[in-house]
Amino acid sequence: MKKISIQDAITQGSGEVALHGWVFRERGSNKLKFIVLRDSTTIIQCIFDRQKFENSWDEIDHLQVEASLEIRGELRKDERAPTGYEVQVNSYQVIGKSENFPIVKDQSTEFLADNRHLWLRSRRMTAILKIRSTVFGAIHEFFHKQGFYEYQSPIFQAVQCEGGSDLFSVDYFEKKNEVFLSQSWQLYAEPAIFSLEKIYTIAPSFRAEPSKTSRHLTEYWHAEMELAWCNFKDIQNYGEKLIKHVFKRVLERNKPELAVLERDISKLEPVLKKKFVRMTYTHALKILQEQASLDVEWGKDLRTIEEDKLTALYDVPVICTHYPKKVKAFYMMEDPKNADVVQGCDFLAPEGHGEIIGGSQREHDLEKIKERLRAQGEDPIKYEFYLDTRRYGSVPHGGFGLGVERLIKWICGLDSIKDAIPFPRTMERYKP
Ligand code: ATP
Ligand code: MG
Repeated sequence: MKKISIQDAITQGSGEVALHGWVFRERGSNKLKFIVLRDSTTIIQCIFDRQKFENSWDEIDHLQVEASLEIRGELRKDERAPTGYEVQVNSYQVIGKSENFPIVKDQSTEFLADNRHLWLRSRRMTAILKIRSTVFGAIHEFFHKQGFYEYQSPIFQAVQCEGGSDLFSVDYFEKKNEVFLSQSWQLYAEPAIFSLEKIYTIAPSFRAEPSKTSRHLTEYWHAEMELAWCNFKDIQNYGEKLIKHVFKRVLERNKPELAVLERDISKLEPVLKKKFVRMTYTHALKILQEQASLDVEWGKDLRTIEEDKLTALYDVPVICTHYPKKVKAFYMMEDPKNADVVQGCDFLAPEGHGEIIGGSQREHDLEKIKERLRAQGEDPIKYEFYLDTRRYGSVPHGGFGLGVERLIKWICGLDSIKDAIPFPRTMERYKP
């Protein structure tokens, strides 16, 4: 008999079924054993009657949490069962034993992190991983539909994109401190827009973040796009459309998972329905002063506290634009009307989830780029390959990077970004 998923069995509603899965919960008496079986779809209660299994009762009686099983039995509706159905088992086979599964109720975050490989089986992590899968799929789908090509940059890079402080240097054979793990695809993506014009990727980025925040990983998945012949507004519009598309797919497909996470869906709906708020950095400072009594000196980057106060005023992301030139990366385009600011934007998510996207129109003036590289203590010679993009048929272009785990953290309403990725990497944690 063909095995089906527990969800398909429930949809079938009655009759004989063959299932396989893992023991999620077990309890029993002298006469009956109740096993709640779980698979990737859901859970179902299975009942073993001793009268039927006198010879193997010892094995059944000793079945423990997370043992894997195949069962055949008769499905029927039962209001008292956890998912409204139960299976009266007729035959079974233990596939993999499990003894003293280490994870029991109410264990510390640290213990669960040490046992992450086992904790992935929890209903909470399963729900998050399913949403994560939808998010990745929706990002690919969005860019393909918009006519972008998928393109890959190298992970070993000989230049720095986002500044030196959080670079991971790797020993590259005899070479020390010359090769770094990618912080962003960008410098190797820009050369490709002259061939493909519209490109995107989803790839890991690495940043040696020394701070313990709820938003920073040392390895995260970065969805990035780069676009030729565009202006600064186009970049912002693509970012807004991308986020809306991902939300649409998650709300279509993952309501049960959001329910497991006890996520208040009414907090997500405005993102689909309303236009994102757009304001300049200078205007954001005014709002912070007027509505949150926070004084920020013009020229200082917005800190977490300021971003949180600002976004608390809205139920959709704030696209904050035109930051001071000196707080932003060397490749961001100087604003033609005001040389003190750049055409760069951060998308700041509501509910305190912070920056989700960083993007910009790219500077195409060769001399300005060189000057800003020097100002950052960089030798433009190392960037020759990149500077060639401005020498041969340069065009207006721009792009953005979205932190996929930041987006998942916000969608799922997680306290920490660590739960948005299967095996989080931070300063202290690189195992298991
Ligand atoms: P932050 O100010 O929060 O450190 P950033 O300005 O360094 O962010 P960008 O360089 O613009 O970020 O990177 C693009 C996007 O990548 C960010 O908007 C964010 O969503 C994500 N991101 C950046 N650093 C991390 C990190 N350490 N862990 C997870 N996501 C990150
Ligand atoms: Mg950073």
